[in-house]
Amino acid sequence: MDRLDSKQLYDMWTELGMEVKLHDKLLENSEKLHKRNYLWQTNRPIAMKLFDTALHDSHGQRVAEIVDYRNAGGKSIGTFCIYVPDEIAMAADVLNIPLCGGTGFTVDYADKVLPRDICPLVRSTFGMAISGTCPYKTLKDFVLGETTCDAKKKTWDLFGIRSLEVPQKKNPVDKALWLGEVKSFMAQLEDLSGVKVTAENLREAIKKQNRKRSILNSISAFRKLENPPISGLDALLISQVALNMDIDAFILAGEMLLKELEERTDKSISAYSAPGVRVLMAGTPSPMGYAKIHAAAEMSGLRVVMDESCTGLRYSRGNVPEDLQTVEEMVVAIADRYFDIDCACFSPNSERMENVRAVIEEFNVEGVIHNILQYCHGFNVEAGAQDSIFSEINVPSLKIVSDYSQEDMEQIKLRLEAFGGIVENTRGDR
Ligand code: SF4
Ligand code: SF4
Repeated sequence: MDRLDSKQLYDMWTELGMEVKLHDKLLENSEKLHKRNYLWQTNRPIAMKLFDTALHDSHGQRVAEIVDYRNAGGKSIGTFCIYVPDEIAMAADVLNIPLCGGTGFTVDYADKVLPRDICPLVRSTFGMAISGTCPYKTLKDFVLGETTCDAKKKTWDLFGIRSLEVPQKKNPVDKALWLGEVKSFMAQLEDLSGVKVTAENLREAIKKQNRKRSILNSISAFRKLENPPISGLDALLISQVALNMDIDAFILAGEMLLKELEERTDKSISAYSAPGVRVLMAGTPSPMGYAKIHAAAEMSGLRVVMDESCTGLRYSRGNVPEDLQTVEEMVVAIADRYFDIDCACFSPNSERMENVRAVIEEFNVEGVIHNILQYCHGFNVEAGAQDSIFSEINVPSLKIVSDYSQEDMEQIKLRLEAFGGIVENTRGDR
């Protein structure tokens, strides 16, 4: 569709019932943070412009596309977690719109209804809905939560939101429960759209979602190089917008970027202008709008060579087999793929320990940053368990617990600079 001009955008937001003046301020704040966090980098791939635009469009042009889609009878749902099986939604012809908030701008609004001492991700998301600054508020047929952490579960209850039951353990009984949930999700979406999930449309959806994940993983593979042609910050931006962009547009942009990364590698063009310690960012997600810790790390001379969060490897790890024949076989394989996600809401979560250890080796990681959103007890406590593994292999770690405010940025930078020095001094011990 044609790009909307500012008058058309204003009209669209007004028709969507948004608080347009407040929303303008939110956009101003987002653009300022985008400039500060991303645009200081001097050697970005040219194709990153596509992802900068996608970030910018997430409150404008992308919204217009979804308005058009719904006006033509298309169905959509709003969700908050990477456990929601995208393949099923796509096969049932329902658009899944992930709604996790990454802006600190709306947190205060949520504080009118939610306790202040819960995770900023939940407060930001609901602050957007409550303050009239979420353009997707009216663009969905229903919202689907999930039973992962307590902050989310109780917030869904407060707002009367139905939840997908994600078990908390990984025993056979839990796996059977999860498969039942995935099947009931499928039935619910078939009812909504009137489109039956068949072996054909599900296989196509599996292939497309696999392609999207493979692109993300191929981009990550370039970060294994001694001099990565793409920064950790830009890789984060790509993961963030991957959740919002139209999937075909994302695949196209991703393929263009991959081509450029190959060329940059051939010409030894690095994203970094100086040598730096290789770190893994581990822990909670950094949804679109939040890049404080990644920016602080790379501004402090560290190289974020992998991110194991839900806006990183936890989202892209593992594809669904494409050679299955029946809907039942495919649904089981999809349920298995999502059940393998290693969120800290699981008890125990030994898979995550193994996964992180493997990433450290694969990406030649020298230090780990536990990036923990304030009040996320699962990832915060789990950081301690991980540290005992890191000390066995002499990989130093640093825990940063923070929120979406910007006040602690300079202090975090100082801690990260000092951490870089510690890692350099312990290089000989590994
Ligand atoms: S951290 Fe856990 S609950 Fe949050 S998005 Fe990731 S998988 Fe879902
Ligand atoms: S970051 Fe932690 S507390 Fe926040 S929504 Fe995700 S799992 Fe829950």
